[in-house]
Amino acid sequence: MDSLAGKMYSVLGLARSGVAAANYLVRHGARVVASDLKPADQLPLDKLDAAVEVRAGENYVREGDTVVISPGIKPGSPTDVMARARGAEVISDIELFYRQCPCPVVAITGTDGKSTTTALIGSLLEAAGLKVFVGGNIGNACMDGLEGLGPDDVAVLEISCFQLVNCHRLHPLVAVVTNIAEDHVEYHGSMEAYIEAKKRVFRTMGEGDLLVLNGEDPEIATWELPEGAEIVRWGWHSGMNAWSDRESVFFEADGLKVRIATLADLKLKGLHNVENIMAALLVLDGRFAPPSQILEALKEFPGLEHRMEFVANVDGIAFYNDSKATNPHAATAVLNAFDQRFIMLAGGHEKGADYAELGKLIGERTSAAVCFGATGARLASALPSKHPSTVVDTLDQAVQAAYKMAGKGEMVILVPATSSFDQFADYEERGRVFKQLVHNLQDNNSTPSASEGPAKREMR
Ligand code: ADP
Repeated sequence: MDSLAGKMYSVLGLARSGVAAANYLVRHGARVVASDLKPADQLPLDKLDAAVEVRAGENYVREGDTVVISPGIKPGSPTDVMARARGAEVISDIELFYRQCPCPVVAITGTDGKSTTTALIGSLLEAAGLKVFVGGNIGNACMDGLEGLGPDDVAVLEISCFQLVNCHRLHPLVAVVTNIAEDHVEYHGSMEAYIEAKKRVFRTMGEGDLLVLNGEDPEIATWELPEGAEIVRWGWHSGMNAWSDRESVFFEADGLKVRIATLADLKLKGLHNVENIMAALLVLDGRFAPPSQILEALKEFPGLEHRMEFVANVDGIAFYNDSKATNPHAATAVLNAFDQRFIMLAGGHEKGADYAELGKLIGERTSAAVCFGATGARLASALPSKHPSTVVDTLDQAVQAAYKMAGKGEMVILVPATSSFDQFADYEERGRVFKQLVHNLQDNNSTPSASEGPAKREMR
């Protein structure tokens, strides 16, 4: 652990992670100046320790300071260039966390599935009896969790590529890369830069460390991996360290092939989530606990809100919320996640994405599509011409339309494939509204009198 007493830090950006970093640093004796372009009345000044010197309305770096930079500041942007010119070094809050952390770090990165995998690993480690801190890009500032940790605990960190570009000494005991697809290229400038950022998660790893990789990912297959580190992979055939035949999850332990669970027994649904489960099992078994110790917790793990979240069963129709599918790539994973066809609710903010491939896949994988919001009509026009579909304006109308179309035993899944800003503040609000609409359906349907019940179903 680095001593912070008397050390000089500039914190750039006062969102949640910047506030947590600034407060931690002054609590441990550092001299901190924190700045943000926002005016003072829009900053969370009440949450900042009084010892933090604040500069509102500007991005400020004191000459020679270590700079803790917000992940929102793009590499190569004028602020980033200024920070590198004036500061002694530029680090992310994850790097600061690592430098002060007394316990092993499990790091999770990749394009999709990071949050689910991080939360699952955290929950399984707890079930194995360890004290765990889960933080980072998953939504809680990592610097807030540091002080409670001791050498026997474990820190499980979701790390975005925005944070990884400013990690230098970060050395996880275990690292997971979920998958790599084109994403955030605009931030990094190129796909190569995005991939290079992701690779930083393991560049310090070696003897004694464990690297857990998606064995089916074509990009990861081309990577040069750290020498000395143990490498394990998951995939869809038995040559992998953990694998699934789409009905069960298997694992190789002590040369024996063991069935860990059947997918039907798991609360977490969808084949993309099976990948997250395999990753988590490899982490646990590799360094912490055998799968036999955490089976119950694995089966009971419900997943995260807005990612294949079960909402309700209304009149034999199961509704799921995947409002977090804010791009065609995440939507593709959900579409490929089930052997059974389902009714998809899709649409939202117009980002200009190309829907040609997605439209084809929706035709293959869904029984019908209800398209809504700003992209509704354009998405519907990308579907195969005879595919059952309807276009409506709002999510409310979309839920009603799907309810009318669905038969008993069918699934209805909100998979927008785009962001929510045409009608909602963010994907979380969209998901909450969806859940409320489904619960309204449920309420209207929950206490039918003997004469109302069947008639209501037939009317739809
Ligand atoms: P991230 O933190 O990387 O954004 P999340 O767990 O929040 O990942 O999931 C984001 C979106 O990606 C959701 O739509 C979810 O259903 C989907 N998803 C989850 N796991 C995977 C995976 N392993 N591969 C592809 N998509 C996934």
